Amino acid sequence: MTSFNLRRARLRSGEQLREQVELELEPFLLGGQEYLPEPPTVVGDLSITKATTGTVFELSFQASLRGPCFRCLRETTIEESVRAREYQANTPGDDPDLRNEYLHDDELDLTAWARDAFMLELPEKILHAPDCAGLCPVCGKDLNDEPHTHEELGSDPRWAALDELRGQL
Ligand SMILES: [Zn+2]
Ligand SMILES: [Zn+2]
Repeated sequence: MTSFNLRRARLRSGEQLREQVELELEPFLLGGQEYLPEPPTVVGDLSITKATTGTVFELSFQASLRGPCFRCLRETTIEESVRAREYQANTPGDDPDLRNEYLHDDELDLTAWARDAFMLELPEKILHAPDCAGLCPVCGKDLNDEPHTHEELGSDPRWAALDELRGQL
């Protein structure tokens, strides 16, 4: 886990600290498939700005994620620019919006923050191309390589079973 100790910063109101930080990126498990960050460690920009009522934390980095295309399963790498912002009020009370959840006893958990921020940037479905045709639901062949349809549906036992069902309706 990479973390940043705030005591090192010693900021006074109106002051800002900018620092390059090393971020360990953890693998993601999405839809039962593993996606690996590449490279597993990136250098990000951390800035901490102290205001009168609280502290603003900003983190940005670029990273790639490698894993199977959601539709056709071929290996895919997507690149994302990640930007995240957190706020910690001097007196947050019980309001979660006024609390930086990655800050514990002046220790900022960069690993957890980077993971969650990266996750938020990911598309809903990771596709090797936006128009990926996917796999044929009948024979399982990759429709990107071999675009085809199954004309002779009657010869497929699954369709025959469906026809039989239709006959009963
Ligand atoms: Zn695909
Ligand atoms: Zn097919």
